[in-house]
Parts: sequence; structure tokens; C-alpha cells
Amino acid sequence: MSEHFDVTAGATDEPARANGGNEPMLIRPGSGRDGAGLGAARGFSANGGVGHQSLFDKLRAGLRPVDVDGERLYVAEGDTLLTEAELQVYADEREQRERLWSAIGAASDVGLGTEPLARSRGLVVQTQAGRIVRWKPGSVLSYRVARNTFPDQQSYDLVVAGMQKATRDWELTCGCDFRHRAELDQRPESGALGAVFWVRYYDSGGAFLAAAFFPNDPRSRWHVLIDPTLFTQTTFDRVGIFRHELGHVLGFRHEHIRKGAPPACPDEPTYDAKNVTVYDPQSVMHYFCGGIGSRELRITELDRSGSQQVYGPPLGQLAFVDDGA
Ligand SMILES: [Zn+2]
Repeated sequence: MSEHFDVTAGATDEPARANGGNEPMLIRPGSGRDGAGLGAARGFSANGGVGHQSLFDKLRAGLRPVDVDGERLYVAEGDTLLTEAELQVYADEREQRERLWSAIGAASDVGLGTEPLARSRGLVVQTQAGRIVRWKPGSVLSYRVARNTFPDQQSYDLVVAGMQKATRDWELTCGCDFRHRAELDQRPESGALGAVFWVRYYDSGGAFLAAAFFPNDPRSRWHVLIDPTLFTQTTFDRVGIFRHELGHVLGFRHEHIRKGAPPACPDEPTYDAKNVTVYDPQSVMHYFCGGIGSRELRITELDRSGSQQVYGPPLGQLAFVDDGA
């Protein structure tokens, strides 16, 4: 989650430094792990002209880098962290999509019906090799909030309370189960320490408000990063930001990556993505951009319907029968 989305803004040579941790960072499975990606389309400029600099080069030069646990990551679309290899796939996909849209536009101009191609269909989920990515049924998504990474008790308490509320909101929405393992919070080591993921304070220099992970990210990245600006910003409801980040943790992509979103919304490649509901400008996964979206980041009816397609109804609505095995 980020307050601003201009990919050329905030470019800096000096990345923020992570505190602690030394796990090697790997790249997201299913997103071109060797960087070969979808076939590089060099020489295409984002504004439609004939450029001599690839989109990858432009993004790499313009996106803000952060160093997390010794690995350089690029902050795309507000809160999506990509390694250089992932950024290559991202840029290639975006160039291909821009060419597709331009072809759709040209076909429309000559009267060919292209509506089915351009139609948007809803809450976007992460996929891998054509399959929807989700946590295994019965998974308890336990987490710790690493107290010693926070500068004071008050910011830690705010995060604990915000996570409590946001995880509850998702548990009332679809069949997921989060658990705060508070007994691990005071431990000084870095890492999840037996929980599934950990929540840590991380000063990115305002590169994002918070950043999370997808279920198919490498385990070394199963953390939610909280930037100091989360506590000072007044644009978004703070619990809403946690709801949004937890949506990523459940495998949901940004709603505004769809074709139906306003052009002012940050673009993002839709590789490994699948729409499960109609376009929902009020989605918890939609940024406030192009004059629409929500500063409250509430979970909407369409989010509910889309997330239940993936996770089923809230576990509290089910009566489980033991098979005796
Ligand atoms: Zn996001």
C-alpha cells in the first residue's frame, strides 16, 4: 500500500536498509524465475513511441529500490516488491499487454467487436500455471508481530490492534483462519519463529506504507513490512491498509490492474492473474486513484463473493463432521 503511484517519482540511488535478518531472497515461483520471462520486447516505449530504452530499463531506473535482508527489491505499484528478475517479467508482460490493448483499440476503430476480449470480470486472484493460488484447506495463518523492530510500544500496539481487527474482518468474509501468536512477539530474533509469517517495522524511506507477500512467494519473504509513514499518513484508514495487505497474503491481486480501471490508476501486469468477479471500484484491493476507490478499504460484497469462490464461506458458518480416521 502506498500513498503515491508515479513510477518515475522518488527515484533514488540510495535504497533503504533493512534492519536485521540475513535470509537470502528468492524470487516468486511462477513469474519467470530465471528472468527469461515472456520474451523480451526491447525498444518499446511506454508512451507508444519508438523508444531505444526498454520498459525494463526505464522501470529499473525509475522505481524506488529497497534493500530487504540484503536483497535489492523494486517497489512497483505502491506495495509490490519485485526482484530484478521479476521486474524483467513484469516489464515484458506490460509491454505485451499494451500492444494487445492497442490492437483491441485498432480493431474497435474498424468496427470489429472486441468486447469479449476487453471485458473485466472481478476480484483478481494470483495464479500459477493456470491454477488459483491459495493456502491449503485447514491452514492456520499464524503470525507474530516482532516487538523489537518497532521504535516504541505505541506503534507496536497499534499494529497488533490493527492486525487483530483486519484478520477478524477477513475471517468473517471467507473461509480463512488467522492467529496472532503473541507469545512470540518479544523474541529478539528475526523471522516468523514457528508462526507462518511475521509483521515487522521496516523503514523504506516512505517507498510504501506497508507491503506484504503472496502465498506462492518464497518463504523468506513471508513477512508484512510496516513503514513509519503508516503511522503518520492520513489518506487511508489504518485498519483498511491491513485489510488490503492481508488480501495479498490470501492471494488477491490489485483490483485496479483491470482494463476497466481509470487510466490514472497504477498499471500492473496481469500475468499469473485471474478475475473472479466483475470489476469493483470499491474493492479492498483497489487503490484510491483516478477519482475512484476507497480510503476506508472496506471489504465489499464483491470481495466477499470473490474470496468465497476461492476459500469458501467463513469457517464460523460451518459445522465440521469428523470422518473418524
Ligand atoms: Zn497492494
